[in-house]
Amino acid sequence: RRRKYAALRDLPPATRDQARVGLYMNAGLLIDMQHLEETGADGIGLYRTEIPFMVRSEFPDVEAQAWLYSRVLDIADGRPVTFRTLDVGGDKVLPYVDAFGDENPAMGWRAIRIGLDRPAMLRRQLRAMLQAANGRPLSIMFPMIADVSELLAARRLLELELDRARRRGLPEPERLRVGIMFEVPALAWQLDSLLPHVDFVSVGTNDLMQFLFAADRGNARVSARYDTLSPALLRLLHFVVEKVRPAGVEITVCGEMAGRPVEALALLAIGVRTLSMSPGAIGPVKAMIRSLDLTEASAFVSSALTQPDRPLRETLRLFAADHAV
Ligand code: PEP
Ligand code: MG
Repeated sequence: RRRKYAALRDLPPATRDQARVGLYMNAGLLIDMQHLEETGADGIGLYRTEIPFMVRSEFPDVEAQAWLYSRVLDIADGRPVTFRTLDVGGDKVLPYVDAFGDENPAMGWRAIRIGLDRPAMLRRQLRAMLQAANGRPLSIMFPMIADVSELLAARRLLELELDRARRRGLPEPERLRVGIMFEVPALAWQLDSLLPHVDFVSVGTNDLMQFLFAADRGNARVSARYDTLSPALLRLLHFVVEKVRPAGVEITVCGEMAGRPVEALALLAIGVRTLSMSPGAIGPVKAMIRSLDLTEASAFVSSALTQPDRPLRETLRLFAADHAV
């Protein structure tokens, strides 16, 4: 099987009816970067920057962060990398920051909420990213945005850092893309005001599922009750895709769901064209894509979504088997 996937490495992730899919990899450590070459992924769709923060005994300074981000861009060698700003709190605890003491950490003081309450910390991270890019293209993503005002505040901090970089004669990124993680359901009803301010929206289905079904993602007793192929999630995602794509904003999915072939099939069928996943999932998902007739799959999924509220898992599995996907 491994050999079969290795043989796919240099073949494009395109469906039988010629839809090109962006197939990106999730990473969080420098050592993950070796998989980029190995898998033939288009780039890094999600670089989780908090991981090195978690393994250190103290908060990394701007220089240490800039060195790391710069190495990531070097290894990516021109392929796009999307850096996510710190998503600590929740299940990701920093040993040197006082225990947050949140009763319900997933919904507590985490991610962009900390970044906006401690702007010096977020600004240092943005500074390090601009420094690391040193004129190269840069893509920055803010996690756990629940309200448009949070994105606007984060963008203002980025502007301050861009001004600072200009004053110091640092070259501006050749292309700067700013986007958000769509993880909080409330954002679905703010897309009209959000979309003019972003270049891309990346759906984090791990957190989105937990908030949509009010089921702790780390607790298998409850999280396993809710299927990622439930019509509730797919209809929400379909609604989001239909808003985002016509606005000329890129939509990607970077939660674990994107790395499972049947789930990925459903995502493509509802209009998603860019997926980001763990390295081991690239081969199997690419194999699925290359054997898929997307026109047929889209029609099938649209009609399945009008059916009674049962997960589409079994139906899609049968579709995939019938179509040799
Ligand atoms: C997500 O929530 O789906 C996601 C990709 O981010 P993380 O798993 O790091 O919370
Ligand atoms: Mg998340």
